[in-house]
Amino acid sequence: MNARTYEVRTYGCQMNVHDSERLSGLLEDAGYTRAGDGATADVVVLNTCAVRENADNKLYGNLGHLASVKAGRNGMQIAVGGCLAQKDRSEITRRAPWVDVVFGTHNVGSLPALLDRARVEQEAQVEIVEALETFPSDLPSRRESPYAAWVAISVGCNNTCTFCIVPALRGRERDRRPGDVLAEVQALVAEGVIEVTLLGQNVNAYGVEFGDRYAFGKLLRTVGAVDGLERVRFTSPHPRDFTDDVITAMAETPAVMPQLHMPLQSGSDRVLRAMRRSYRQERYLGIVSKVREAMPHAAITTDIIVGFPGETEADFEETLHVVREARFASAFTFQYSKRPGTPAATMDDQVPPDVVRERYQRLASLVEEVAWNESRAFVGRDVEVLVADGEGRKDGATHRLSGRARDNRLVHFSVPPGAERPRPGDMVTVQVSYAAPHHLVADGPTWALRRTRAGDAYERATTAPAAAAPGVLLGMPTVGASAPLPVADAAPACGHA
Ligand code: SF4
Repeated sequence: MNARTYEVRTYGCQMNVHDSERLSGLLEDAGYTRAGDGATADVVVLNTCAVRENADNKLYGNLGHLASVKAGRNGMQIAVGGCLAQKDRSEITRRAPWVDVVFGTHNVGSLPALLDRARVEQEAQVEIVEALETFPSDLPSRRESPYAAWVAISVGCNNTCTFCIVPALRGRERDRRPGDVLAEVQALVAEGVIEVTLLGQNVNAYGVEFGDRYAFGKLLRTVGAVDGLERVRFTSPHPRDFTDDVITAMAETPAVMPQLHMPLQSGSDRVLRAMRRSYRQERYLGIVSKVREAMPHAAITTDIIVGFPGETEADFEETLHVVREARFASAFTFQYSKRPGTPAATMDDQVPPDVVRERYQRLASLVEEVAWNESRAFVGRDVEVLVADGEGRKDGATHRLSGRARDNRLVHFSVPPGAERPRPGDMVTVQVSYAAPHHLVADGPTWALRRTRAGDAYERATTAPAAAAPGVLLGMPTVGASAPLPVADAAPACGHA
């Protein structure tokens, strides 16, 4: 009998992307196979996000469409997980009774058993738990990329930003043991991974659970010292908890990339207070200048919300001021939208939508102008690019390939006639010939190709699909008191300890 097929659809943040790799790994471990592109799967899993106002509309819209698909496919099952499932629970099966399983952010590991139970009992299964059962990283995973990986170091968040629903849905911060993070990174590198991104809602608070305020800086050094690992990135830091030892660790650990994505949200101290972000403009810009001092070539990006309740024109001008001062390489900009269940949703002085839109447009054009000024400085410079799979939408037409520079800038580059074609995962050094606001083009004379183990891993994964599919990784040890870290060359900078 053919194995049942599955499809996981991911909405929202990198944490959901990470969890979806676990959902795929769990299903493959339970004997399911991934449905081919365009094929209708026996099991469709929606891993949802609850951050935006229209997140609900999107979910119920998708479920409406899936109802007709399911009606025409005997034995098909639909499962809903992620933050919206954690929030809406049985409301989902009330509004969409054709849904078979609803599971939450704390019990990702329950999916296969719930699917079985729903099939045997012919009844929808809704199982939501209030606290983390198993650290998602302990679950089998089916990674999307053979050469780059997400590695969660913590889940949940202890902050209480008034616009954010994450703490209510992902709970308080739980930290993985540093030794477990290191073991996962070493296992990934052994499989050919060349770049890891350390993931957490607030990576700077890492260690709060086992009482080590400088744990994140130490972790960057230790992970950065893993033999064979060339690139370490992390997201998301929080300006309130950002300590100088992290900047030093970044500057002194060659594998840690000169790139920082640090959410600002607003430049106005009054608005930051109303958001309960626990830092002010001066501190934010202070961190930016310290990072620039330690790593003058670092790319800094951010998240900004426009139109938070009570935001005045003067407040908005403060945000524009920080964008100019911080010289962001790019920014994710959002028009504030009420999130039911958050304190900000019931605040007075909600800003009229047309005012929000107008400010949003002004912000977007300033961000573009600043980003373009920053990227123009690259014209004529050589950059090292990790060749990527699927990052160049126009590559086919332009006969270019694409990848990421050390500071995470997107680079589209030409392969000189007669030169060996690089594989995703390989490294090339090229010269930038043109700069756009959000990408670089490298058709310059410089060309060097370095074939890597990551390129080999990509080749293995794509030429021998089933057997060599990247990363069905068996579970890892549990959460809690930290395993002792091997002291690498961190001592000098960790002088604070
Ligand atoms: S730091 Fe604030 S915005 Fe980020 S996840 Fe925590 S509560 Fe939400």
